[in-house]
Amino acid sequence: MSKFRNFKMVDYVIYGRGSFNQLDEILSPNRKGDAPMIFLVDHFFEGKSLVGRIPVQGKDKVIFSDVTYEPKTIYVDKIANELKAEFGTVSGIIGIGGGSTLDLAKAVSLMMTNPGSSADYQGWDLVKLPGVYKAGIPTLSGTGAEVSRTTVLTGPTRKLGMNSDFTPFNQIVLDPALIANVPVNQRFYTGMDCYIHCIESLQGTYLNEFSKSYGEKALELCQEIFLEKDTWDEVSDDKLMMASYAGGMSIAYSQVGVAHAVSYGLSFLLGTKHGVGNCIVMNHLEEYYPDGTAEFKKMVEKSNVEIPEGICSGLSDEQFDAMINVSMGMKPLWENALGKDWEKIMTREKLRALYEKL
Ligand code: NAD
Ligand code: ZN
Repeated sequence: MSKFRNFKMVDYVIYGRGSFNQLDEILSPNRKGDAPMIFLVDHFFEGKSLVGRIPVQGKDKVIFSDVTYEPKTIYVDKIANELKAEFGTVSGIIGIGGGSTLDLAKAVSLMMTNPGSSADYQGWDLVKLPGVYKAGIPTLSGTGAEVSRTTVLTGPTRKLGMNSDFTPFNQIVLDPALIANVPVNQRFYTGMDCYIHCIESLQGTYLNEFSKSYGEKALELCQEIFLEKDTWDEVSDDKLMMASYAGGMSIAYSQVGVAHAVSYGLSFLLGTKHGVGNCIVMNHLEEYYPDGTAEFKKMVEKSNVEIPEGICSGLSDEQFDAMINVSMGMKPLWENALGKDWEKIMTREKLRALYEKL
């Protein structure tokens, strides 16, 4: 592997309250004849006023994404195959929603041009062809999915992203008005994904000044909104949206760490969602991130949210082993967190003891 990562970024970024209103103008030059734009919209917005503001024209189609479960490869394939059957080709896929919908939009765009199933491309740099034009418009902030080069999918045999240079969006629209009124718990779980990205990146061995610059800024924004301010207002949404972006940029050039590595095991076995799973784990990471864990607990208290406890009680040895296998497989995360000799530090026994606490 080459020494320095040369990473592909999002092509265009627009930021600002109300920037969603510019969507028609943004999409126009990317329309190819009468091939439609497909708007993949989080099912939360079905029947809501946002749908009426989508600049549909001609054969354009709005599809509501079912994000009850985190995205699966079969769901990506189904949407892409139906679109190919109905239209042959499309001008673009526009994802409007949380991290799950953004990931679905990226994956469907890639599967409009790449043959086979999305499960064939779970891994690093397996995608061979650029997808169709794709834009991402977050309505939740924290995951950094708007800037990342991956799209996390659960396939028949693994939970792994389609990680490639073709994966990042061509355009993102960061309009903080779209994250107003997210219920406190959901806003917290997704927001803490960003906070945890910062802690894992800044405390990791892969850190360089590029990651640090973004990570420190994102951390500062999280501290302002989740600790220092007494009320949540528009400015908090403005800041959270930029924290997510900067947090995502920070891990683009470093890696996440212990909370994510352990959380992936929970999500594999129990279907625990990314944001809440990270919070469940972060609540017990004093040994690895003493300051981050203490600060996280203050944020939990201040936001007055519940972090589930006892989710691993009553699991069998086989189930613990399954989670440990998934978690131990996340080698770069452990190496970033604990260094080259991580296997001497994080043994299976130690990891089992950690899972038992959750
Ligand atoms: P989500 O997209 O799974 O959505 C959570 C819930 O919030 C859903 O019920 C959704 O309908 C609802 N929702 C969306 N917008 C809303 C709004 N404005 N108001 C109220 N409710 C709203 O949640 P998330 O935390 O944003 O994303 C988690 C997903 O992101 C996981 O699938 C995870 O794998 C993925 N992820 C991807 C990356 C990446 O780099 N690609 C990074 C981290 C996480
Ligand atoms: Zn995350």
